[in-house]
Amino acid sequence: MSAFGKQAGQTRQCAYCGKPIGVQLTQCPFCREAVPQVQLSRRRGPDGREQTRRGLLCMLLAAVIYYFAGGYGAPLRIPIEIVPAVTNYLLPLLFLSGMGLTLYGFIQKIRS
Ligand SMILES: [Zn+2]
Repeated sequence: MSAFGKQAGQTRQCAYCGKPIGVQLTQCPFCREAVPQVQLSRRRGPDGREQTRRGLLCMLLAAVIYYFAGGYGAPLRIPIEIVPAVTNYLLPLLFLSGMGLTLYGFIQKIRS
């Protein structure tokens, strides 16, 4: 075990005999079984696709709410009274937040 101790970070257990083998080996040196190269976690940073999707969804949501709350969907009226602060401040805030999130996602995508 001491021979493997110094490279403990680069060993994994053989699926057949349980002994520590090198990560890059495709065959176990102890039991001669072929060991598949399994990468459990691909080291991938966030590619920003999720952020972009969420940002676009926020912008769409803000636009739709603004359209109906502003009275532009003339035949379709919302039966509730909408406080002007919502259309004046909250919806632009939501829209700009979505835009920022979209830009962040694009930047993540470019950098990855
Ligand atoms: Zn083995």
